[in-house]
This record gives sequence, structure tokens and C-alpha cells, in this order.
Amino acid sequence: MNVPSRATTHPVLVGGVRIGGGAPVVVQSMTATDTADVAATVRQCHELARAGSELVRVTVNVPAAAAAVPEIRRRLDDLGCDVPLIGDFHYNGHLLLTEHPDCAAALAKYRINPGNVGFGDRRDEQFATICRIAVERGKPVRIGVNAGSLDQELVMAKMQENTDRGLGRSAEEIYADCMVISALQSTEAALACGLTEEQIVISCKVSRPPELVTVYRELARRTRQPLHLGLTEAGMGIKGVAWSAAALGVLLAEGIGDTIRVSLTPRPGGDRRDEVEAACEILQALGLRAFAPSVTACPGCGRTTSTTFQELALRVQEYVRERLPAWKRERAGVEELKLAVMGCVVNGPGESKMANIGISLPGTGEAPTCPVFVDGRKHATLSGSPEELATQLIAIIEEYVSTHYPRH
Ligand code: SF4
Repeated sequence: MNVPSRATTHPVLVGGVRIGGGAPVVVQSMTATDTADVAATVRQCHELARAGSELVRVTVNVPAAAAAVPEIRRRLDDLGCDVPLIGDFHYNGHLLLTEHPDCAAALAKYRINPGNVGFGDRRDEQFATICRIAVERGKPVRIGVNAGSLDQELVMAKMQENTDRGLGRSAEEIYADCMVISALQSTEAALACGLTEEQIVISCKVSRPPELVTVYRELARRTRQPLHLGLTEAGMGIKGVAWSAAALGVLLAEGIGDTIRVSLTPRPGGDRRDEVEAACEILQALGLRAFAPSVTACPGCGRTTSTTFQELALRVQEYVRERLPAWKRERAGVEELKLAVMGCVVNGPGESKMANIGISLPGTGEAPTCPVFVDGRKHATLSGSPEELATQLIAIIEEYVSTHYPRH
């Protein structure tokens, strides 16, 4: 599949990263640290960026957080990490950006939630203040609507209209409609404040895949602004990854979405980088981006009586992950490498032949040898303990990388 992000969207430049306008879909993440804790936030931003996050969002919720942002930026620069930082503002963004000009300068984009900017006249005024600062500093904004913090005045008005006119719409439909309306109205308001179409990204996040798909299809139909895609509050572990992949996969396959985030809830003590890995895997699964060599492995079944192939698949995956930073520094295009580790003769040779390097292990009752295929051709037959197999296969992989991917 080769689905570009909507080429018709206005490109928005965030730091040095281009969103929309046909650019590859961008991976984002968000820190979970107290932004006022400079050391912890720098560490996590750096980790997320090294894991593949091309933009990192930090919460800017209190004066101490706003005051910390310039120092976070400085320390990241000192580490050679130029990942653009996005400030997430709710309720008091107008004040924090006004009172902390260095924070406003250090951030590459401001995220504004129209439902959390304020109420009545003050909402418009405070929204305009953030937009004016963005105009003065030439910064883009994300108009980030969330179902959980939707503008209640708009929702009440639409509910009332539904009753008065007997429209018979469900609450879900009204909410979805309100999210799109809120995003589009806020975009118009931002343009009226002087921002250009090249400075506005839109998101409308909900927590259920079918509704997310409905909302984004409608957004894609009605706006040319780049869209930030994410299933909000996706949840923990497999559930969060599966629900995010289901929702984002549908939209991305339709060419909808210019930047994504996978909002996983980490387990206690878990790794924040999981959300970056999940986002990269979703894009790579769809053939939209290549971040790392892919390892195809069969799930195993009753034909595999030992765990050799599982151990080998794991070993290869870990080896690739460990070597990838160096490979990427040295070799152009290595992230396109395709590997396969298969459990038996049923699908093993076929799948192995489709990879750049594939190994087919023996299933129950098969001869205890492992044919290895390189670019579709039988290259070697390996045998030995799992450790010996791993060593031999890794040597073949290293040889392939050094002879097939040119030095930068
Ligand atoms: S390739 Fe063989 S071992 Fe793997 S799932 Fe298929 S039949 Fe089972």
C-alpha cells in the first residue's frame, strides 16, 4: 500500500518538521513528567525522540512548567536533540504564554483546546490572545478538540436544536457533529486572528474507533488543514494498541491523517516509549513509513514442538533493535530490510522467499535443518542449537546489510 497523506492539505512547518501537504505521516508523543522537573522532562523527551518521536508534546499547566520550558529546550539542544517541543495548554494558556515569553519562543507549536480556553466572551478573548502570540512569533497551533472537554455551550445548543426540530439524532451523532463544528469554527477564529492556513493543524479526539473514523472522515471532507490523528485515552497494553491500530489504520489507509499519536496508558513503571513504538509500527504496517527492519514471524502451532523458532525470532528482533542506531548512521535504506523467521515447512519457505533474509525452521517430523533464503534464493542450510542458529543467522544478516545498503 502506498497512501500518501492528503497532498491537498496545507503544509504546516513545526520546527523543522513538515506536517501535511503530502509529507510522510509524522509520529508524535507526549511526556508524562511534571514539566517543571527539568531533568526528568529532558530525559523523557530525549528518550521519546530517540525512540522515533518526531515531535514531543509537554504539558504547560502552571507558571513553573512554563518557566522550565526554555531550559528544557536548551538542555535538549546541548544533547544534540532538536526534536520540536509542543506546549499543551488548557484554561490558562493565554496567561502563561503572555507572562513567559521565553516559553512562547522555545515551543515550536501551541496546542489549544477550544473547550478549555474559557467561557463566553472570555473564551473568544483568551483564544485570540494565544493566536495573536502565535502570529507574532510565527508559530503554528493545533486546534485540539477532545470529546471529554467539548464546548458545552455548543453541545447544549445542538441538543436543543435536535429537540426543537425533531431531528432524531443520537447523542453520539450530536457529539461527533459538535466536535467537527468546534474545530472548524475555531479554525475560522484563528484565521480571523491573523494565523495563516500554513499555521493550523486540527485534531478531534474521541475514545471509540467507530466514532473517530466518522469524525475524521467528516473533517477530511470539510477542511484542508492537516489532521493530527489519535484515539484518545486508548487504554493499556494490548487493548490500547489494538484499538488505536484499528481506528488509525482505517483512516490512514484512506489517506486521512498527517501526524499521529498513540495514547497508551503505561503500566505502573512502564515505558513511555511504547506509544512511539506502537505509532511507528502502525505506519510501517501500512507501508506508509519505514522506521526499522521488519521481522516476520509465524505464530507457531502444533507443528512446532520446541520453542526454538520463538527464541530465534526474539533473538533476531532484539539484535536488530540493538544494531539499528549504528546501521542507520552508517547505511542508507537499512530500515527497509525484511526478515522472516518461520516455524515449519508449511509457510516457512514461501514466506522466507518473500523476505530479504528468511529462515524456515523444522516443524515436527521434518529434517532438523533450516534453509535460509536471501532475496528469494536458497542461500544456506543451517543446523545446530538455538544459540548456534542465531549466531549463524546474525552473521548472514550483517553480511547482507554491509553489502546491500550503501554507506551514507
Ligand atoms: S509456518 Fe508452520 S509452524 Fe508456523 S504457524 Fe504455519 S504451520 Fe504452524
